[in-house]
Amino acid sequence: MTTKKKVTLYKGSELNTKGWVQEAALRMLANNLQDDVAENPADLVVYGGIGKAARNWESYEAIVKTLKRLENDETLLVQSGKPVVVFKTHADAPRVLLANSNLVPAWANWDHFHELDQKGLMMYGQMTAGSWIYIGSQGIVQGTYETFAELGRQHFNGSLSGTITVTAGLGGMGGAQPLAVTMNEGVCMAIEVDEERIDRRIETKYLDCKVYTLAEAIEKAEAAKAEKRALSIGLLGNAAEILPQMIDVGFQPDVLTDQTSAHDPLNGYLPVGMTLTEAAAARQNEPDVLIAKAKQSMATHVKAMLVMQEKGAITFDYGNNIRQVALDEGVKDAFAFPGFVPAYIRPQFCEGKGPFRWVALSGDPEDIRKTDEAILEMFADNEGLCKWIRMAQEKIAFQGLPSRICWLGYGDRARFGKRLNDMVAAGELKAPIVIGRDHLDSGSVASPNRETEAMKDGSDAVADWPILNALINSVGGASWVSLHHGGGVGMGYSLHSGMVIVADGTKEAEKRLERVLTTDPGMGVVRHADAGYELAQETARRTGMDMPMLAK
Ligand code: NAD
Repeated sequence: MTTKKKVTLYKGSELNTKGWVQEAALRMLANNLQDDVAENPADLVVYGGIGKAARNWESYEAIVKTLKRLENDETLLVQSGKPVVVFKTHADAPRVLLANSNLVPAWANWDHFHELDQKGLMMYGQMTAGSWIYIGSQGIVQGTYETFAELGRQHFNGSLSGTITVTAGLGGMGGAQPLAVTMNEGVCMAIEVDEERIDRRIETKYLDCKVYTLAEAIEKAEAAKAEKRALSIGLLGNAAEILPQMIDVGFQPDVLTDQTSAHDPLNGYLPVGMTLTEAAAARQNEPDVLIAKAKQSMATHVKAMLVMQEKGAITFDYGNNIRQVALDEGVKDAFAFPGFVPAYIRPQFCEGKGPFRWVALSGDPEDIRKTDEAILEMFADNEGLCKWIRMAQEKIAFQGLPSRICWLGYGDRARFGKRLNDMVAAGELKAPIVIGRDHLDSGSVASPNRETEAMKDGSDAVADWPILNALINSVGGASWVSLHHGGGVGMGYSLHSGMVIVADGTKEAEKRLERVLTTDPGMGVVRHADAGYELAQETARRTGMDMPMLAK
């Protein structure tokens, strides 16, 4: 096993490979592992517990070497972070195909995964970690912003002003919560066990301040609430300990959620009564004890959430499967609070909307500024989108290669993709743009406790959809396509696919972009139309989609 070397951040207008598609894969893989992007780059961990970009450093180096020699009519296959073969394919085929953490259903649990992981046969790809399109916390900010904005519309007359949101977890994804709440004018108190994570969020401007005691956190939060001032506070502590203390002292938040890495009881969630160092030792010496303690703490955590919900807090699960763990631990009403997708996001999925992102391969922030101008001009009538882009320009610090995210839907993604390609062709940008998305998208995931929770027709666990999504995007000529298991909610609970495509300014890319940026969000519309959602059916009819069994 080689140890970590500093990962080069490739940027500029010169190729290190034989084409911009391979180059984009190389740059995005390396970008995922930059010190200011990844949560723990030394172990190749990008975010989300142990979500990795490559299986080990030998595999990383072999992938880099292979991408540098890969021809424009070849495809590299990556099995759980290890490059396994290069096949001759054709120019329009994806340059890379990846499959991460997939297990046969009866074996699809953490125990079996850990066994394979320890033998060096697998890695956990999470979502954008193993599919090389993680862009730091910005990648989740808009989705988190949209969630809190919708919550504000549904419960607080359109804004979180004068409300306190309590949450936990300031990791790669969870770190977006304080900024998303303050962007919605509210106060956020985020409990986090790891002081370094708190400091990191302050450095990157996602969090305003840090406190060490609950009393101090309450004092600051209530003062800001009274003045209707937006403020985010990082409170050092364990959520399973702090929430019961809040109940004891009579502190009641208006909004309550959680984004600790509860999907992974071994590596993600720190049990009450243990320090981070003790947990690291227990992980090696007595993993079963650690897992049992973590699950008990999660049950305590959920019980406290249920008490606060009962007292009136708007409470929701933020996609980490904590309710399932609590239920398994005997908390019978663990699912009494909803998941964020059915509560706040699904209508957007019905229109094929989801987290669309793009990255300037040049590394020049000016390229992203120009693309921001393009989106503001093209979608000038979309007030929410324009507000988001302006806010992002002002408040979001880039991590690694400059990038931008916004939620765009069916039709709009293809239109904007063409515009980006035109900008590259015209020489307006210094290098090509790479376009991708989270797997948490409208048509690319089956996850019954999260994205497909409480589907109208009960098809929550049907996983044909992400597979069809990966297949059609490959056929259409995406630059790299991936199929993963266990992202977001852990082993056994999800299947999902990723898609990334390069706008290099060529006519060939224009055709691929048109195809893939249509089929990809199109799958979201189809999946929801098929499940009986009227908004999705209307979207399909309005846009002339050819669904053989949809009534005209
Ligand atoms: P991460 O592993 O980078 O961060 C988790 C954080 O939780 C860490 O900083 C850790 O120190 C902290 N933590 C662990 N136990 C704690 C406890 N008991 N009390 C307080 N803090 C504790 O993970 P991430 O990328 O931020 O993702 C968080 C969770 O959200 C994961 O389960 C992930 O799968 C899920 N997720 C949600 C979405 C979404 O859109 N809602 C998207 C992707 C992932």
